[in-house]
Amino acid sequence: MAFTLPTLPYPADSLEAAIDKATMEIHHGKHHKAYVDNLNAALEGQAALQGKPIEQLLRDISAVAEGIRQKVINNGGGHANHTMFWEIMSPQGGGEPTGTLAEAIQSTFGDFAAFKGKIKESGLGRFGSGWAWLVAQHGKLSIVSTANQDSPYMSGQTPLLGVDVWEHAYYLRYQNRRADYLEAWWKVVNWNEVAKRFAAAQGK
Ligand code: MN
Repeated sequence: MAFTLPTLPYPADSLEAAIDKATMEIHHGKHHKAYVDNLNAALEGQAALQGKPIEQLLRDISAVAEGIRQKVINNGGGHANHTMFWEIMSPQGGGEPTGTLAEAIQSTFGDFAAFKGKIKESGLGRFGSGWAWLVAQHGKLSIVSTANQDSPYMSGQTPLLGVDVWEHAYYLRYQNRRADYLEAWWKVVNWNEVAKRFAAAQGK
C-alpha cells in the first residue's frame, strides 16, 4: 500500500501566531507531498517494505536494500518528520506542558525555560538543514539534532517533539532570523499531543 499525504489537522492560516499561511501551504502541499511521492517511488515493487508503518520502516532502516536506503532515509524520514510536525502544533497550542511530561522535563533539564533554551540552542546549532528534537529512549528524555530528514527512529529514539529548521519552514516570514522563528514557534506547540507521545513511548 502506498504512503499518503495526511491532511493538515487545522486550516493552513490558523497557526499565524507563529507560521504564515503561505509557508504552511507550500510546506505541506509541496515539500511534504514530494517526500511522500518520492518515498513511494523508491519503494516500488518492494511489497514487504510498503506494508510497514513509517515508524517501523525507519527503525529497521538496515533492512532496506542499500541501493534505495538513502532515498528511504531522506523521503521516509521527511514523511515521518512532517507528519509529526503537523500533529504537535495546534491553533490552541502554546503554554506549558502539565503532568508527568512536565515533571520529566523539569527533572531532566532543570525547568521549562531551560528546556526551551536547549531546544533553541540545538536548532540554531544545526548548520544547514535539519531538525531539533525532544526524544525519549529507555525512559529518559534528551534533546538531539539531526541533519536533513534523518529521523530519531533510526537511532532507536522516539521523537516526542520536533521543530523543523530547514529554511523552507520559516524563510517567507523570518528570512534569515531562525532564532525569531524558534521563539515564536512555542506559541503553537500542542502539548496535549506531545504528552500523548510521551505516554506511548514508555517502555520503548
Ligand atoms: Mn520541512
